[in-house]
Amino acid sequence: MSVLTLRPRAACGRAILQVDLAAITANTRTIKSRTAGEVMAVVKADGFGHGQADIARAALAGGATRFGVTSIDEALSLRAAGLTERVLSWLNPVGADFATALRQHIELGVPGLEHLRAIARGAPGARVHLQLDTGMGRDGAEPAEWERLCREAREAERCGQVRVVGIMGHLPCADRPCHPANAVGRDRFAWGLRVARSAGLRPADHHLAATAATLSDPLAHHTMSRIGAGLVGIDESGTARLRPALTLTAPLVSVRSVPAGTPVGYGHTWTTPRPTRLGLIPVGYADGLPRLASDRAEVWVRGERRPVVGRISMDMTVVDLGLDPLAPPVAVGDIVTVFGPGDRGEPTTAEWARWAQTLEHEIVTGLSARLLRRSAP
Ligand SMILES: *Cc1c(COP(=O)(O)O)cnc(C)c1O
Repeated sequence: MSVLTLRPRAACGRAILQVDLAAITANTRTIKSRTAGEVMAVVKADGFGHGQADIARAALAGGATRFGVTSIDEALSLRAAGLTERVLSWLNPVGADFATALRQHIELGVPGLEHLRAIARGAPGARVHLQLDTGMGRDGAEPAEWERLCREAREAERCGQVRVVGIMGHLPCADRPCHPANAVGRDRFAWGLRVARSAGLRPADHHLAATAATLSDPLAHHTMSRIGAGLVGIDESGTARLRPALTLTAPLVSVRSVPAGTPVGYGHTWTTPRPTRLGLIPVGYADGLPRLASDRAEVWVRGERRPVVGRISMDMTVVDLGLDPLAPPVAVGDIVTVFGPGDRGEPTTAEWARWAQTLEHEIVTGLSARLLRRSAP
C-alpha cells in the first residue's frame, strides 16, 4: 500500500496506523510450514494491537484453524465479529462468567482445582484444557498438584461436568534455544501428559510451543502451536523471514526555521547545535510512542531518516529536519513515517523497541485507540 494514497486524508492532520493483513496471512503460512501441528492464532490484546477480528481472519487465511485469547471477554468479541472457529480462553478469575463462555462454545483453560470446580458447577459440559506450569512460575498448576487435578478432572469428565480436550504448558525462555529451561519445560510437559493419561484422560490437543519454540525447537511442537507474536511479524528466534504489518504515518503539521541554541521541548533536553528546521508531528506517548525513545528515535521524512529531538510529548513529537541544501524541500503536510516494515529504510517497531529498551511486543500492543486504523487486505 503506497503512502501516496493516504496523503489527502493524512494531510488533514491525523496519524494513521496502517495494518497490512497480507503480511499476517503470509506470516501465518510461513509458521505453519515449520510445524506439522495445528496453528492456534493467539489474538489477545486486540490482536497484538493490530485489530483482533482482522488479524483473526487474516490468520485463518494463512492456515490457522482456531484462536487463543486470555479473557472470556476477548473470546466473546471474536464471536461478536462472527468468527465461529474453536477458541480457547486461558486466563480468567475463578468467578468469571463460565456459563456465557459455554453458551458461546468457548473452551477454557484450567490452572487448578478451584477453576475446575467452578467450571464444572457453572458450565457443565465445557471443553477445557488443563494448564501445567512448565517453568513460568506464573500460571498453570504446579507439578505437586497436577496428579490431583488430573484425577479430579477425570472424575468430572465421567460425570459429564467437563470434557478435557487439551493439556497446555508454556516455556519461559524459548527465545533462547540453548537455555536449559527449555529441556526442563519439555520434560515436565511430557511427564504431565503421562500423568494425565494414566488418570484416564485422553486429550486430543497438547500444546506447549508459542512462536519462538515453534520456529526454533521442534521437540516442543506436540499437536498444536499457539502463535501470537509471529502472526504480526515478530520473530524472536531470528530464523524466519516474517513481515511486520504495521505502518504508522503522520503529517508534518508545522515546519519552523530556528537558529542555533534553540532549546526544544519539555525540560529542554536538547538544544539545536546549528540553525535548522524543526518539524512537528501529531503523535506522542498518548498514542503509544514510548517517551523513553526521546532523543534517540528516528523517523522517515522524504526518503531520509531524521532524528526525533527533545522529549516526546503526550500528543506531539519534534523532528530535526536539518538544513542540508541538497535535501529535498520539506513542507507542511508531508507524510512522515514513524515506523513501517523497513523496506524503504524507514524505522521499524523493532528499532523503536530498542530505542525504548523494551520488546517489540510492548510497542505494538501499546499503540492507542486514538490512532486511526486502516486495514489493507
Ligand atoms: C501470549 C501467549 C502465547 C503467544 O505467544 P507468542 O510468543 O506471542 O507467540 C501463547 N501462549 C500463551 C499462554 C500466551 O500467553
